[in-house]
Amino acid sequence: MTTSLVWFRNDLRLDDNPALQAAIEGGDTVVCVYVLSPRTFGETSFGFPRIGKFRLRFLKESLENLDANLRRVGSRLRVVRGLVEEMIPKIASSVGAEVVHCQSEYGSEERSAVKRLRKRLNEDGRKLRVDSPSTMIAPDDLPFEIAELPQTFSKFRGKVEKRSDVRQPIDAPRSIKDFPRPIDGELAIEQCKELDYATIEEDSRAVMRFIGGEDAARERINEYLWEGDHLRQYKQTRNGMMGADYSSKFSAWLALGCISPRRVHAEVRRYENERVKNDDTYWMIFELLWRDFFAFTVARFGRTVFQIGGLRGERYPWKRDTEQFEAWREGRTGYPLIDANMRELAATGFMSNRGRQNVASFLTKNLGIDWRMGAEWFESLLLDYDACSNYGNWNYTAGVGNDARGFRWFNTIKQSNDYDPDGDYVKHWCTELSEVPTRYVHTPWKLHLSEQKRSQCIIGLDYPEPIVDLFKSADHHEAIYREAVGDFEPVGSGRRDQGRRGGKNRRRG
Ligand code: FAD
Repeated sequence: MTTSLVWFRNDLRLDDNPALQAAIEGGDTVVCVYVLSPRTFGETSFGFPRIGKFRLRFLKESLENLDANLRRVGSRLRVVRGLVEEMIPKIASSVGAEVVHCQSEYGSEERSAVKRLRKRLNEDGRKLRVDSPSTMIAPDDLPFEIAELPQTFSKFRGKVEKRSDVRQPIDAPRSIKDFPRPIDGELAIEQCKELDYATIEEDSRAVMRFIGGEDAARERINEYLWEGDHLRQYKQTRNGMMGADYSSKFSAWLALGCISPRRVHAEVRRYENERVKNDDTYWMIFELLWRDFFAFTVARFGRTVFQIGGLRGERYPWKRDTEQFEAWREGRTGYPLIDANMRELAATGFMSNRGRQNVASFLTKNLGIDWRMGAEWFESLLLDYDACSNYGNWNYTAGVGNDARGFRWFNTIKQSNDYDPDGDYVKHWCTELSEVPTRYVHTPWKLHLSEQKRSQCIIGLDYPEPIVDLFKSADHHEAIYREAVGDFEPVGSGRRDQGRRGGKNRRRG
């Protein structure tokens, strides 16, 4: 009897799981393992929990759902505690598995873990097969080597759209023969103290309740695409900030692999065949290509993406102003759009893409604060945290990414007027502004004192004064930026309010 072992990573599903499929094909019995590694549960370098309470709950629910689904087909999930490179070889040896299967992931820590594991397995004469991609396009199907990855998204997209196909997802297995004995150190999920989250009070203002697991992921696809029929207008609504359906909200399930990007792709294609095919349906694939682009960027450039100089190795003198950082983190900057978004993140673990771009720009371009502090705060809180997407996007917004074009920043007041013209979103999260007239809701400090009193919102008392002047602070940091990168164009020529990529058919216009 041969036994194979699947090490589940961020692929917590049965559907379209090539590692699981290969294990089933390669062994008479299969052991399904998830490792709770101390590396996952420590602190970030600025002292935030690496997994905050929202993602912890989501992870726990996802593991429970994976276990339940495995049991339905005859298997179960064995959760163990320890370092991957110690636990997996130990289990492989105790069950006699010659081959270990897992998904390939691109973060530098994830790749180091695989390297260490492979070494240990090889020393015991065992093999590690890492051939199941977390991306929509498999690395083997790229029309270039990873080392030749184009530096800009548009070139990447141009090439892959012409020459790469997305493979068909594979169906979930109908039955798995489980290894018939318990393994050493196996834990029941409810016993795992690492997964204990502090009590979470549901905030009724949240865009939705994200429930971890493959079943909930499927349900969300069903709700967003099929029942709600929202995909037909996705491109027009995706810059929204209120409610469940302005965007898909697939990201948290994609990040933990409760659903595969190939399955989302296949569902979009089915929708295009059965309902409608338009710019909006294409845009969902376009966004998933961004996800792939960041994954391959990290695969190519490794650690640099996580370092202060970013992909470009910029020597920008970032600040670590704790007071200003705290004001940003807690939603007390005096700029309602920034504050509302940061409060939403802290209260729910989610923030829209529009919000993320604005708050990241404000932290780096108006406050000049070390972008990694922001990235780590996101890492701690985001339900959908994904190393490549998070650090890739932060590199970009901070102006240290490959594709960065000079000093670009978001004029948060203009953004507020464009994307929240009636102030509904800022009032939703900054309730102290609820009586402020719409005309002033994004610039409440401009209200005359008598109007502040009438609106029950005294600036400096009920709602903070702006912590910096928007334009002066941007000019100041632009000058520093130009000095650092050796670009001596007149200060003020940095494009304001230009999402990251302006223009037709580019994102963030
Ligand atoms: P939709 O608009 O419905 O998009 C569909 C899918 O496309 C998303 O689920 C996601 O997988 C992918 N996608 C969309 N936009 C991007 C993008 N800019 N980069 C990469 N993939 C994208 N996304 C994460 O998944 N994890 C992160 O940790 C993360 N951190 C970010 C940090 C910053 C500073 C910024 C500006 C963006 C970040 N994003 C991250 C990207 C984006 O904001 C989220 O993917 C998106 O808001 C999730 O909501 P949605 O699923 O409704 O997206």
